[in-house]
Amino acid sequence: MNAKQQISDAKLVLAINGGSSSLKFALFDKGRSLERIISGEIERIGSTKAKFSYRDGSNGPQKKHYLVVPDHRAAAVFLLHWLDQHFGLRGIIAVGHRIVHGGNRFIEPTLVTSQLLKELRRLSPFDPEHLPSELTALETFHRQMPGVPQTACFDTAFHYAMPRVAQILPLPRRLQARGVRRYGFHGLSYEYLMEELTRVAGRKAAHSRVVLAHLGNGASMAAVSGGKSQDTSMGFTPAAGLPMSTRSGDLDPGLIWYLARTEKMLPHQFNKMVNEQSGLLGISETSSDMRDLLARETKDVRAAEAVVHFCYQARKWIGAYAAALGGLDTLVFSGGIGENSPVIRERICEDLEFLGVKVNKARNSRGPGIISARNSRVTVRVMRTDEEVVIARAASLLLKK
Ligand code: ADP
Repeated sequence: MNAKQQISDAKLVLAINGGSSSLKFALFDKGRSLERIISGEIERIGSTKAKFSYRDGSNGPQKKHYLVVPDHRAAAVFLLHWLDQHFGLRGIIAVGHRIVHGGNRFIEPTLVTSQLLKELRRLSPFDPEHLPSELTALETFHRQMPGVPQTACFDTAFHYAMPRVAQILPLPRRLQARGVRRYGFHGLSYEYLMEELTRVAGRKAAHSRVVLAHLGNGASMAAVSGGKSQDTSMGFTPAAGLPMSTRSGDLDPGLIWYLARTEKMLPHQFNKMVNEQSGLLGISETSSDMRDLLARETKDVRAAEAVVHFCYQARKWIGAYAAALGGLDTLVFSGGIGENSPVIRERICEDLEFLGVKVNKARNSRGPGIISARNSRVTVRVMRTDEEVVIARAASLLLKK
């Protein structure tokens, strides 16, 4: 029996997580407590060498091939066709989508309707890097799977009820009425991490003073207490906060006028620079990938500076959030860098002993789990995040309702 026949009777839930040039997906079996059947990604959408990769379950060997997909619509059509061939689209009973920005209105996972699509289109200027391509993919799935409920899950939702002091951006007050505030992102990841933290460490620990560090290509931190977000480093858009793979993170606002005068830089060029040409890539001039930079840091001072700057800024944000929370009990590392790089974790935690952070070298090199020393006042953990399972849970919950 092939895979398609085996699960032809299954009730599958598809999670879609679109980025500016990527489309991640994961397929779960609702009948088996959302067991993951397959997950994968189409990367470099829009280039002539887009890559499609996937793996069975969570840890199967990766398979990949190259393809041509000019935009997110073509990527979604390819994926639907591929899923139909391998699993049969008829088995998919619900689809969930990560939507980067819910603006001031959308907090709860919401059933996708034509009206919702219209309203989300209106939100596009809030995040022109991500929202338009996510919506294109969402519309394609919506149209091509009539009758299958689609759920939008908002990455901003986790931070929606942050204290007002953390939401306010110190700009003219009239802008607040237009929705200009700190929203924060990586909310699906943080939701997953908090659920996992409750499961592995108990409610008391999860409700204490926690800093969650999601360090991937996009990097952010959240200060959490009582299980709720109190502050987060990304802002009105995901470009704020920590330096990232290609995003600058926080900058001196005076630079906009300086570069406009001296380089005749236009707003869209500034936007491209801070989103696509800065961060690790900007400092190193060679790579946005932390693995490349670590491999080259002893030979190339630019790579070394990029790594040092990243760790230094991360350490500063942990310090800031410890101050915001009135102390620190748990620190969680997650995301591609946070989960996989002992050396970056070690360097970020260096000199944080004054806060009670003490990392154990052997535990740190082993990875997921507790990596702090037994006598560390702060518990430091490495946790693998899973945004797709949060999306799938929301989609199947809405199905029940
Ligand atoms: P995204 O935010 O696009 O989902 P990821 O969470 O997968 O990205 O993180 C990608 C980042 O993780 C890249 O900078 C990559 O270099 C880094 N990374 C992955 N594995 C390692 C590793 N073993 N050591 C250092 N960095 C790593």
